[in-house]
Amino acid sequence: MTELNTLTIAEARDALKKGEVTSAALTEACLGAIEGAGALNAFVHKTPEIAMQQAEAADARLKGGEAPALCGIPLGIKDLFCTKGVASQAASNILGGFKPEYESTVTGNLFADGAVMLGKLNMDEFAMGSSNETSAYGNAVNPWRREGDETPLTPGGSSGGSASAVAADLCLGATGTDTGGSIRQPCAFTGTVGIKPTYGRCSRWGIVAFASSLDQAGPMTKTVRDSAIMLQAMCSHDPKDSTSVDFPVPDFEAALTGDIRGKTIGIPKEYHMEGIPAEIEQLWTRGKEMLADAGAKVVDISLPHTKYALPAYYVIAPAEASSNLARYDGVRYGHRATLAAGDGITEMYEKTRAEGFGSEVQRRIMVGTYVLSAGFYDAYYNRARKVRALIKRDFDEAFASGVDAILTPATPSAAFGLGEMKSADPVQMYLNDVFTVTVNLAGLPGVSVPAGVDKQGLPLGLQLIGRPWEEGDLLNTAYALEQAAGFVSKPAKWW
Ligand code: GLN
Repeated sequence: MTELNTLTIAEARDALKKGEVTSAALTEACLGAIEGAGALNAFVHKTPEIAMQQAEAADARLKGGEAPALCGIPLGIKDLFCTKGVASQAASNILGGFKPEYESTVTGNLFADGAVMLGKLNMDEFAMGSSNETSAYGNAVNPWRREGDETPLTPGGSSGGSASAVAADLCLGATGTDTGGSIRQPCAFTGTVGIKPTYGRCSRWGIVAFASSLDQAGPMTKTVRDSAIMLQAMCSHDPKDSTSVDFPVPDFEAALTGDIRGKTIGIPKEYHMEGIPAEIEQLWTRGKEMLADAGAKVVDISLPHTKYALPAYYVIAPAEASSNLARYDGVRYGHRATLAAGDGITEMYEKTRAEGFGSEVQRRIMVGTYVLSAGFYDAYYNRARKVRALIKRDFDEAFASGVDAILTPATPSAAFGLGEMKSADPVQMYLNDVFTVTVNLAGLPGVSVPAGVDKQGLPLGLQLIGRPWEEGDLLNTAYALEQAAGFVSKPAKWW
């Protein structure tokens, strides 16, 4: 029999329902895989006791029949989600020792369905980054390596621990969050599937806030079907989040027919960017052909404000972050600096924040505070908000012209080496988000699907962007692409 931790969520669900496996056995297989994968640094807080208790409860529920799809399925949870009584640090020293008194709505939804928590997953500090290198725990490592080369590679960021854990079969699926690409980019770097749903689909309550108008939670999984199953369980209307929308949650898995005949797929000409490797362009062309062969109509479209997306994002996201992170003052959560005689409250704030926040987080707080300051608010923040409205309008017009989904590359490169960007200008790292941030600015759903490998054998992803609230239709197009691409490679085990 295949090792249980290598199953997909759908396979495990079906085997659990038939009584062929138990959640306890599945959970033990994952806990064993996690123990053997310290080199990946994906799990930063392990919760084996909670996992085994939840697994036993799930087995009892499964015996009684009528268990939800995720009942008994072992998952990893990004450290950004507050989990009751379990360390939730957003990979930051400033939240050292913080154990929330409450459960995030998304994890609460998963556990109510019987999902099992294996532990908390590594990420960039406060979800700021594209390589997992800003984490206070040290970076997670990509289980993939270039052929014949042992250079350790980034699993991407910010949800790098989630991507590494799913790709290495340490868990069956994981939660991620995506503010500018943090689900889709790590999935593209690790050969996994991830969807950022429409803004408002998942409650943000109990998820440590980065940029509240952009943040969304979503699943990171081995297949499109698994993303559909997991997303369904994560979504809900939540009165505790005023931006959570009171729409019924459709059956996303039922939408996966694989039939995309008659659908119109838009190819935005502005995403042909200078300096993008030929391999990425070729993959994109192959993606177009695959969707056309499946019966879709492929048309060229224009999203003229694309070039302003990164600058607008890197004004809006830091502005919101600087406001959200003001709450870490050494009084209410986690870390407080040791004070010298005579220090007052101002020194306490200053020392605590200087010690607790890493350099990327400090950079964002400074940029954000600057763009929100009285003299510069209109010049930067308000201008970025106007640009954001124009970016959204570009998408609205494309969808109004009959486009059902938009196909783009997910990332401008395959996974890069850890440390490679250390001496680079921070803007170099920000360029990683060039294909993903537009989707957050416009509040749309976007999914990354593994579609091929580069000449060094590393996975590459394509992104599909959908109409708001139509995740089911979007996942169905992703499913058709997944079937056509037939990506089945797995990283060779070295850890
Ligand atoms: N890489 C982007 C950033 O650093 C996106 C992060 C995210 O989506 N959380 O802001």
